[in-house]
Amino acid sequence: MQKIPVITGNKIVISSLKDYFVDFQQERGAALGIKSNVISCFYPITNRSDTKYSFVPDFEELNKASEYFENQGCEFIGIIHSHNSYKSNSSVNKPSKDDINFYHSFSEANPDFEYLLFPIIGLENNQKVINWYIYINGELKEINMEIAWKRTANRGFFDI
Ligand SMILES: [Zn+2]
Repeated sequence: MQKIPVITGNKIVISSLKDYFVDFQQERGAALGIKSNVISCFYPITNRSDTKYSFVPDFEELNKASEYFENQGCEFIGIIHSHNSYKSNSSVNKPSKDDINFYHSFSEANPDFEYLLFPIIGLENNQKVINWYIYINGELKEINMEIAWKRTANRGFFDI
């Protein structure tokens, strides 16, 4: 078991992040930035995948995202991507095999991060729903951010 600070989201940032995901027939993604354990910045990243069923981030844009975050007083914390609505409903927001492989290799290539967030956004009953996943100690785990939203920022810890 490991404790990490509770991460919350700035309501305006999370709502404009949700607005960025408009087309659930084509996967897209964005880098996420954090300020004092609050998700406070995001940066759109072009999908370099050949298919509309997967997300492969443009690496140059990921580097640009880190620069942008630095200027905003944010730190890179992970990548969100959408799953399109063609996928079977029960698993729409679950990471694919390719996603998990990417999370492993990205985390291995960036060992300075204690943990990274890899949330997935998809449509559930026509509502945009984000499932939050944390990559820590070589494992991907789902965390219940809905509980975290209700707490005051910078208070408490997740048991991971
Ligand atoms: Zn995916």
